[in-house]
This record gives sequence, C-alpha cells and structure tokens, in this order.
Amino acid sequence: MADPDLRDRFLSTLKGKAVDKVPALSVTQTGTMELMKKCGAAWPEAHFDAKKMAALALSAHTFSGLEAIRYPFCLTVLSEAMGCRINQGRHDIQPSPESHPFAKEPEKLEFPPDLIERGRIPMILDVTSILREEAGEGMPLITGMEGPASLLSRLIGTYNFLTWALRKPETLKECLEITGAVCSGYAQVLYEVGVDAVCIVDGIAGPDMFDPKDFEVFMRPEYEKLCGSVKGMKLIHICGNSTPILKSVSECGFQGISIEEKVTDLQAAKKLVGSKTKLIGNLSSSGVMLNGTCEDIKEEAQKCLEDGIDILAPGCGIAPKTPIKNLRALIEARDDYYR
Ligand SMILES: [Zn+2]
Repeated sequence: MADPDLRDRFLSTLKGKAVDKVPALSVTQTGTMELMKKCGAAWPEAHFDAKKMAALALSAHTFSGLEAIRYPFCLTVLSEAMGCRINQGRHDIQPSPESHPFAKEPEKLEFPPDLIERGRIPMILDVTSILREEAGEGMPLITGMEGPASLLSRLIGTYNFLTWALRKPETLKECLEITGAVCSGYAQVLYEVGVDAVCIVDGIAGPDMFDPKDFEVFMRPEYEKLCGSVKGMKLIHICGNSTPILKSVSECGFQGISIEEKVTDLQAAKKLVGSKTKLIGNLSSSGVMLNGTCEDIKEEAQKCLEDGIDILAPGCGIAPKTPIKNLRALIEARDDYYR
C-alpha cells in the first residue's frame, strides 16, 4: 500500500497549498529495462496489455520509489485511435506511428463520436482501474497523452505540421481545433475513471521546433480551451528550451509545466510562470539520470530544489537503460534536502 500522503502532497503542490516536502516523481514515461525484468512485464507487450502495463507502471513506484504512477509508456494511444498505423517498437524502443492518414486529405479529419471505444483507449481506462485497486487511494495516477500539436503532427506528418503554419494556416488551425477537442475528450474521460492528472506531451509545439509567434496563434487558443473545459489537474511537457513560451503556457491554465534541463535559469523560469503554475523537472533524462552517478544526481537535484523547483522530476521521458539506483537517488536527494 502506498504512503497515504503521496496523493495529497502531489495535489496540494499543484493547488499551491503548503506541503511538507517537494514531491519526487516523473510526469514523463517511466518504463526501464531493469524494471521490466523485476516485474516480468516488458515492452513491447506492456504497451498493449492492460495487466502488463499496470504491472510495469506500478514497478516504478515499488522498486524505484517514484511518488506517482505514470502510464502509458508511449505517445501513440490517441494517434492510433485517430487512424495511424503503429509500429510496436522493441524491448528498448517505444512504439511509433508508421502512417499519416490525413496528410493528403486534412479536410477529412473530424472528431470521432466513438472516440473512447477506439484503439487502446478502453485498455488505458482498464489500467487506471487496476492501478487504483492495486496502489490504493493514496497514490497519484498520472496519464500521459499526445497534445494537440503532437497528435496532429502524427496525423498529417511533421513536415506538414511545421510548414502549414506558413503555407496553409487556416487548414492547420482547423485541424488543431479537432485534435484539441480529441485531447480534451480523452482527458475528461480519464478524470471520470479516477486519474489525478493528465500530462500532455507536445514537444513539437516548443520553441526548438515551432516559432513562439506561431505558438501564440495556433497553440495558445487550443491549450486555453483544453484547460478551460477539462476538470482535474492538467500538466504539459514541452521539450527543449521552453523559456520563450513559459509565460504564455502558464497563462493557458495548466497547473504544472514539465521542463527540460535546457531551461537553464530556473529562477527566471519561476518568475515567468508566476505562483499559480508549478514547475516540474528538470534533471537531464539523457544525461545525468541515464549516465550520472548517484552523487551527480544528488548534486543536480540539490540545485533544482535550491532554485525552487515545485516537483522534482526527470526533465523528459526516462531513458529505458536508466538504472533503478539512479531513480532512487532522485528520491534520496529530495529526502537529504529536508534533513
Ligand atoms: Zn522532452
């Protein structure tokens, strides 16, 4: 049974209430090869089987001590439900979309009335019930999903997504309204079955890929609608250096923004997002979390905590080869900070 304080601490943090310590967890993917061995549920099966997905997700808490359960481990559930063919990946590679069904005929893209019956969406709802039962009421459940931009980039292709901002802005806007509605519809159903927070992952909307001016025109209205229409906690992960859009993202109404280590000035970032939006991160997933020693991790974590990070976490999806001891070091670093 989970520490009964974990869910309280997580939700209180996001609501801006005082907590005894900063939560240490991951809002991005948590499946690692060592965890797969320990719990007997491995990729690729754990992406497609409810019991295996629940077992691997739970193991990140049981064996590594992460203070939330976060699933699934890929960003293809909505893409598949909207018609992408999915490559299942391997034991160390996540599933990926293999087709872009609306690249040639974007006008055919529409909101499917049977959305929640499509693809693996019913399975994710089952995983939620299994995890609530097995992990208990005190455990935060976080579901990751494609955001409106990453979902659309899969449906029409990345190149189209990035170039239509200039060449076909009206089409891009109309398509984003639909993928935004799909994200909202799915998020709403997740809350109804007991998920505590959704984390939309929209790497392609970040300044490394998408012009911040275009972000204002195309993404901000969709995020505002999503945050305004969906109950519960809404988190967003943006890859790369998201500093130029942090203020704007925080104004959309997300309770938390997950940032990478490329956001180097955490104190400045905190000023940009204000007190209503919490910052989550930002130890390098491909750097110190994967390859560092426990001491390196503690040093980085200490810096994040001193600079006022609200939730201590890896800055992006945890790399599958990350050792369990490095995940544990994250929790220990947080505990040391309060000693
Ligand atoms: Zn990222």
